Amino acid sequence: MSPQKHIPILDLDSEIKMLRKELDSAYHQVMDHGQFIMGPEVKSFEEQTADYLGVKHAIGVNSGTDALVIALRAAGIGKGDEVITTSFTFFASAESIEMAGAIPVFVDIDEQTFNIDLEKIEAAVTEKTKAILPVHLYGRPAEMQRIMEIAKEHELKVIEDCAQSFGAAYKGKQTGSMGHAGAFSFFPSKNLGGFGDGGLITTNDDDIAEMSRKLRAHGSLKKYHNEVMGYNSRLDTLQAALLQVKLKHVDQFNKNRREVAYRYIKAFEGIDEIITSSLPDDGHIYHQFTIRVQKGKRDKLAEKLKNEGIGSMIYYPVPCHKLPVFEGRYDENHLPVCNRLAEEVLSLPIGPFLSMEDQNVVIERIKAFF
Ligand SMILES: *Cc1c(COP(=O)(O)O)cnc(C)c1O
Repeated sequence: MSPQKHIPILDLDSEIKMLRKELDSAYHQVMDHGQFIMGPEVKSFEEQTADYLGVKHAIGVNSGTDALVIALRAAGIGKGDEVITTSFTFFASAESIEMAGAIPVFVDIDEQTFNIDLEKIEAAVTEKTKAILPVHLYGRPAEMQRIMEIAKEHELKVIEDCAQSFGAAYKGKQTGSMGHAGAFSFFPSKNLGGFGDGGLITTNDDDIAEMSRKLRAHGSLKKYHNEVMGYNSRLDTLQAALLQVKLKHVDQFNKNRREVAYRYIKAFEGIDEIITSSLPDDGHIYHQFTIRVQKGKRDKLAEKLKNEGIGSMIYYPVPCHKLPVFEGRYDENHLPVCNRLAEEVLSLPIGPFLSMEDQNVVIERIKAFF
């Protein structure tokens, strides 16, 4: 056998190599003007992303987590309010609800889409419910049409967690443009990833936008005129400048990811023991490509891939409601689909630069396992 080649779950190096010249010149531009906080690139990046996402306002912040907390608070969510969300997500989705002073109420997920189960949302609505926080997990848009209908009926706000879905669309509309607000993350490994932490709030609501701008800068829009308790949570000028470079390529990168995903789906068609999620009509941007493998076998497959130099990850091995921080607060068995999928999911290498050759190696190794 030829010497083993490492195939990472995400190949960021190739991305940086391709864009290096543009990134270097963006960096130099910021070094030259020296406006490191709220410099001109923050404003232009906000304009470009608002335009790209089809929203009236885009507000750069320090992280995706901060984007969620600030968007929730700006939408009027606070102490004692209940927010309906999914437990099958990165902890920050639930953490942000608590940090805004509210209470996460977890409902189960749909095993085909990994997203919040539409049939179960209404049963979770109480007098205290103020919002729904759907997560477009793995880059697959949640069923926003129905979610907005339910929200309207019960007078709830909808805050979309778009951390994994930059560029994903639902019935032609960008994620982050359909709810009352959206929250994006620019963590380096996200589909639009920066070079450190960063985030963005999107909204069409002028009041939510104004309050978000206030909250990100110590609760003030004017210096020494602090009106509410806020945060120090601005998007760095340097990050905005570098993200502008990447934004121009995000469509092509997402398109490449989709092609990788379709090849996986086709390759695994004949293997009964692998369940790929059902093909959505269009706008999935495959932040992750996640298969389901019977409990027990999943860990053996992950182990084999690791030994063969192939990256894979379990997103997420422990659902939010079972995390130590919530100990004693939720019935561990009340989300059976979520609990089962946490033992079945495995995310495979994917990215704009995964070559067909390397992908074939991944596919062959997986086929050999079964
Ligand atoms: C990454 C992520 C976040 C948090 O974003 P950060 O920028 O890391 O704070 C929130 N929700 C989901 C679903 C994520 O994947």
